[in-house]
Amino acid sequence: MGPSSPKRRLVITIDGPAGAGKSTTARQLASRLGYTYLDTGALYRGIAWKVKISGVDYSNTNQLERLLSTMDLRVSLQNGETRVLVDSNDVTAQLRSPDISRLASSVAAIPTVREWALPIQQRCAGTGGIVVEGRDIGTCVFPDADAKFFLDADVKTRTNRRFQDELKVGQGGDRRKVQDQLLARDAQDRSRKIAPLKPAPDAVVIDSSLLTVGQVVDKMMEIISARR
Ligand code: C5P
Repeated sequence: MGPSSPKRRLVITIDGPAGAGKSTTARQLASRLGYTYLDTGALYRGIAWKVKISGVDYSNTNQLERLLSTMDLRVSLQNGETRVLVDSNDVTAQLRSPDISRLASSVAAIPTVREWALPIQQRCAGTGGIVVEGRDIGTCVFPDADAKFFLDADVKTRTNRRFQDELKVGQGGDRRKVQDQLLARDAQDRSRKIAPLKPAPDAVVIDSSLLTVGQVVDKMMEIISARR
């Protein structure tokens, strides 16, 4: 494209383990580019919330399918924050608890759930101009994305970030427990048969342990600028 051509509106993916800084980075990157942003973990957390309050046995495929086909799940962006509405109730504030994190990871390993979630995520991309973050975005949801990143950080850094997040919402008493839960969830996400957490072969891997969010976004912008 010549210098006067309008810039292409790309699809950019960010995958990585819990606490690697995906959401903050994706939000800032989207804001710099004037793009929208999608937190796909919110979908799985919304499903987990519904499973929890309805008491459905999620290992029972029939019950789970009925739950998915009757639930109205909406993920929207308000003032840069992802809001989740389940059957018209805004449940956003209830989605960050450790038990919902654990349940989200368990339901996310079920093929029925992933088949249901796939087209919803793909429809969000529209004509591009979006940063999408999750676990399988570069590998399964948008295998043809224009730029793919895999954001990682060492366990201590990731635990610290999650610990601070939980303190903000009045939880997180025990750092060791936060670390154990984070590692257990990552292990489950990495080892599942369908859409496991892993970098796409063409993803740029960034370790954010010693970087600020701004520095990570700068690195991403360098790569993206060459592709627009
Ligand atoms: O990103 P977040 O921690 O909110 O995701 C919650 C859980 O949802 C993850 O632990 C993972 O099991 C699941 N998830 C997924 N695929 C995605 C995004 C999230 O399986 N694209």
